[in-house]
Formats: sequence, structure tokens, C-alpha cells
Amino acid sequence: TTAKAAGLKLLRQHALIAGRPVGAGSDAIAVDDPATGEIIGHIPNLGVAETEEAIQAAHAAFADWSRSDPHKRAAFLREWARLIDANLDGLGALMALENGKPFEEAKGEVTYANSFLKWFAGEAERLIGETHDSPLGHLILTYREAVGPCALITPWNFPTAMLTRKLGPAFAAGCTAVVKPASQTPFSAIILAELAYEAGLPKGALSIVTGDAAAIGGAMTRSPLIRKLSFTGSTGVGAKLAEQCAPTLKRLSLELGGSAPLIVFEDADLDLAVAETIKAKFRNAGQTCVCPNRVYAHASIAAAYAEKLSAAVAEIKVGPAFEEGVKVGPLIEDKALTKVEDHLARVRASGGRVLTGGERHALGGRFYTPTVTLGGDDEMFRHEETFGPLIPVFPFDTEDEVLAKANDSEFGLASYIFTRDLDRAMRVSRRIEAGMCGVNTGLMSTAVAAFGGVKQSGYGREGSTHGIDEYVNIKSVTLALK
Ligand code: ADP
Repeated sequence: TTAKAAGLKLLRQHALIAGRPVGAGSDAIAVDDPATGEIIGHIPNLGVAETEEAIQAAHAAFADWSRSDPHKRAAFLREWARLIDANLDGLGALMALENGKPFEEAKGEVTYANSFLKWFAGEAERLIGETHDSPLGHLILTYREAVGPCALITPWNFPTAMLTRKLGPAFAAGCTAVVKPASQTPFSAIILAELAYEAGLPKGALSIVTGDAAAIGGAMTRSPLIRKLSFTGSTGVGAKLAEQCAPTLKRLSLELGGSAPLIVFEDADLDLAVAETIKAKFRNAGQTCVCPNRVYAHASIAAAYAEKLSAAVAEIKVGPAFEEGVKVGPLIEDKALTKVEDHLARVRASGGRVLTGGERHALGGRFYTPTVTLGGDDEMFRHEETFGPLIPVFPFDTEDEVLAKANDSEFGLASYIFTRDLDRAMRVSRRIEAGMCGVNTGLMSTAVAAFGGVKQSGYGREGSTHGIDEYVNIKSVTLALK
């Protein structure tokens, strides 16, 4: 198709170290299309030496960039965003190829990703400090200064948006960056960086290092020149990176796993709850950290909700990214299917039954049929994220009981509640242990909302007026005036 061709035109089989392309050697890493398993290209398998070179470049570029006029950085972000908009189809197609998400959804991610650059262009212009009087009779000035060169590590499920959500505020604040994208989806990051240079980013201010995650992460975290690490990925890796950052006391933002509860109360609009559950769950085939992992429906409406839900889920078209009408693509890799199967087996073993789906899709490969179950034991889903197209529905009896279950998790990222009772909506959204709560909606992510978790879902906030705080230090200057 023409879309696919536009995507392949943006495919670059090199890393970008200190603004310079570095090609793949004989140990290149193959990147495949999850829909077919076909290799779409290779990336270099880089490690410590290239990461250190990128860090040196980020350090060198930081001096001028951090002191540059913030309006100039805003202008750069807007120009970068303009180039991204101009390449919307190609960028969407490239991402659909490496990630497998439907083309329309991929384009939606590019637009969402770009909204962070536009938002943080405005934030660059609002990097405003304060003046206040000291009780000692002095005048105190506060400045918001760039933290320094940053290391950014991103996952494969949102190859574009997870990058701009970090780079937007980093560049707005005057930071420079060394990025390690996920090896499954490196191409979106590489072309994005090329567009950033085309938009006028100073040489060396951004590097994309592909390859050995542990080696690159090790070099990033060891370096005293890197002043901040922002990571989106699994809780296990996040905790390890935090440990590795401890000796040099880097600032950290960690966006980690979740196990989002979605609660449907007896007074909910069931049709709305069904439609929103589907929107929340099947984005990226269920592979997002804010996807509902466990649905609790009040016993009096659980069967009705689950029936409506399974009827709607049975209609969802599964297939490759460029096929018309496809809403759910393949999973990222084979082991993702095994995990869905394992979770489903445990629902069945504890007495739950399958209402729709429950097996691999007839298309074969990495396609799994969207699945709804009712009943069984929810315990496992409090602690393990399925990251696939399975919605387990569990009946509950009381508000206190369901809140206790929702909060009985080491995670606390997204949560969703459906109710028409305003008092209940206020009460439950305040008591739920999560960084985000959607009330009668399954979609919360925008550049304007603060995204982030509590407990082992991590800390730090991305997007919103708080997002830039992760990339600035406060400096206080006290003036003794005569
Ligand atoms: P996922 O389950 O989404 O693949 P990971 O946490 O494994 O979650 O991956 C998220 C990102 O972290 C990817 O870019 C991956 O390559 C990187 N990563 C994995 N292990 C390490 C590590 N030890 N050090 C640094 N980065 C890592």
C-alpha cells in the first residue's frame, strides 16, 4: 500500500550518536513486523563505548542549550512538531510496521505524541521564577534551571509518544538527552531524532543509542555527567535502574507497570461502561500500562454488563495494521501470547467462564482473539498485568469490598469507575490508590493531564503543568540589598 511505502521511506537502519549516524555491524539486531514475523530492518547492536560518546556529546551541548533563550527552544519544539505533522502518515505507518498497532491508531499516537511537543513549547515560555522577601531582610529570587544531560529509556508499546513525553519537557527546560529505545521498535525514535535535527536542534543534544539494554543502561546510570534518568517500562527494570542511579544520586522519573481496576457500579450507564471499557482495554491490543487489568462489576448487573461487553468484543476486527477496519493487531512477541494463555487458564481453573474468545486467533502468528470472562478468582490480577486482550470480569457486592480489592495491589497507576452517583464518584476517586482515575471514561491520556503512578507504579509526572518540574532544579539566589 502507499501508506506502507511512506513508512518504509522513513526507515533508517542506523543509530544516531552525537548527531552522527552509526551503521550496523555484523551483529546487527533484526526488527520484525509482529503481524508477519518478517524482518523489516536492522539496527546496530551498540554498548558502553557508544553510550559514553553520546553522553560526552550531551554534556558538551548542554552548556549552550541550557543557557539559550527559552523562546528559541519553544520555536525549535514548534518547528519539530510541524515536521512531525507534515510526516504524519509516514510516521504512523512506520510505527504500525514495527509495533503492529492498526495504522489509524498509530497515526493517533503520532498526533498524541506531537501534542506533548506543542504543550511543552508553551511551558518553555512559562519557565517563570519567583521573587519574595526574606525574613532576614533580603530579596530571594528563584530560578528554574535545567537539571542537566538526561538518560531516557523507552518501551515498545508507544514508541513515539513515550519519547516526546520525555523529550518535550527535557528540551523545553534546556536539557540534552541520550535515548535508548526498545529494540522491538527503534525506527520511530531514530526518524524522530532526525526530524529534531532538521528542526534545528544543536548537534549532540540528542543521541539514539540502540542495542544491548543492560550495557547501555549501565553506562547511562554509572556516568556522573547524566543528572537525570526517566524510564518507562516494567517495575523490575525500573527498580534495578533506581538502584544503579543511587551511587550518583540522579534524579529519577519512573513510569512503571500497573494493574488497573475498572469498577462498574450498579447505578452505571451500562452501554457507556461497555463502550469505554473497550476503548480503554483494546488500545494497542491490551498492551498499555493503563489498560484495565481487572473489571469489577456489581453482582446485580455483572451478568448484564458482561453479556453486553462480550457481544461488543466479539465484533472487534482483529488483523494486520493496514487492513481496513482492524481495531486489534498482533501482540508484540510470542511470549506475550503465552502470558495471556496462562492468565486465562488460571481464570478457568478458579471457576471463571469464557464468554467470548478464549483462544489464539485463526490468523495464527501473534494474533489473539479478544476475550471476556466472568467469575473466578481476581487475586492474581491484582498483582500481575496481563498486557493482552483479555478482560476478566469479577462480581462484587459492596463499595467497601471493591475498594479493598482495587487497592490490594502493589501497583497504583490508572483506575476507572463507572457510576451516575456524584457522591460515590467523588468518594471512590478520592479513596482509590492510583495516580489517575477515570470517572465514566476509559480515555484519560492527554498532554494536559498529569500522567503517573503511586506505589510500585513509580513516581514523577509526565505531561501537564507538572511535567516540566521533572527536568528543572530550583535555584534560590538571596540578594542583600542596601
Ligand atoms: P517491557 O516489558 O515493556 O519490554 P522492559 O522494562 O523490559 O519492559 O523494557 C522497557 C525498556 O527498558 C526497553 O527499552 C528495554 O530495552 C529497556 N531495558 C530492559 N532491561 C534494561 C536494563 N537492565 N537496563 C536498562 N534498560 C533496560
